[in-house]
Amino acid sequence: MQSISPEIIFRGDSAWIKSLPQIAKLTKRPLLLGRSLATNNLRKKIYSDLEKENLNVQEANLQFDCCMEDLNRLKKITLKNRCDSIIASGGGKVLDAGKYLAECLSIPCITVPLSASTCAGWTALSNIYTTTGQFIEDVALSSCPKILVFDHGFIKTAPRRTLASGIADALAKWYESSLTSSKMDDGLVQHAIQISRVLRDQLLIDGEKAFNYKYDERLSWCNTIEACGLTAGLIGGIGGEKCRTAAAHAIHNAITQIITPKKFLHGEIVGIGILLQLKLEEIKNNNNLANQSIKQLLVLMKEINLPTTISELGINVFEKNNLEKIAQFTCKDKSEIHFLPFAVNKEDIIKVISYFEKQEIKI
Ligand SMILES: [Zn+2]
Repeated sequence: MQSISPEIIFRGDSAWIKSLPQIAKLTKRPLLLGRSLATNNLRKKIYSDLEKENLNVQEANLQFDCCMEDLNRLKKITLKNRCDSIIASGGGKVLDAGKYLAECLSIPCITVPLSASTCAGWTALSNIYTTTGQFIEDVALSSCPKILVFDHGFIKTAPRRTLASGIADALAKWYESSLTSSKMDDGLVQHAIQISRVLRDQLLIDGEKAFNYKYDERLSWCNTIEACGLTAGLIGGIGGEKCRTAAAHAIHNAITQIITPKKFLHGEIVGIGILLQLKLEEIKNNNNLANQSIKQLLVLMKEINLPTTISELGINVFEKNNLEKIAQFTCKDKSEIHFLPFAVNKEDIIKVISYFEKQEIKI
């Protein structure tokens, strides 16, 4: 079974307002789920717009992360209030929590991303973390959200950092799927990989312009947010589980195991994972072009203020056995790293991380 996309998508400047009649047809007692204080005002607007549609809206927030503690608490709130849908409005963690909750309770989910930081508003997948943000597992859901509302006006209010994170996460689609799935003879998977190549090219051209948004470059911004929030999700939908993540996400998952004082966004960590994956390709797969790709990516990543080393995440890998811990988690059984078309072990991970952490790479 494969769920390729949300049933209905509203996109553009007034997507939220346009979606209201459709939402009112689907639900009478929605649970509006959010998290961040920064998006409180937007959620207030969403809440009052829903009330104007005569809906009986309940509100709840994630306290920590998309974690079982929050999910179990929210499940009880949803049941107690007899809510008949979840409207998840926020970043990737809120969207993942809303989708997971709706699946558990067999009610529809409506996703309203408030940034372009991930494609979580689209996909039939939820990443589960601990209360402190350490990755545990990703859970495949039976379907994509019922309605996705991708309102450009909402996305515009998000910090630029979220867009940079979305760009890195969307870029990973090409770097990971082309490596793990290019030899697959499934036509749809091949199409997904080709879309991810076009997506990468577009982000390399438009990413920096979108990040430094100027009104006369609005088209670059629109294309970039939709690339990150929609096209990246479509690739996952068409490619399905055969269009796999690989080292970049495996390394992301490992890095989240180390708790840092400052929280980093999913794509900010995935971006570092892409660089490390390319280095693995160079040394383990004799891919001489990988070094060119690293240089090309580093230019964009620096332009859009993305971290390029683990030390920029506030982690000294040469302390507290951190390097060993990251390598161990990256290479554990069932890790996506084993989808790479060449064998990788702990020592390889230690080698490529040390390479980036020890030297200032010249662009
Ligand atoms: Zn991701």
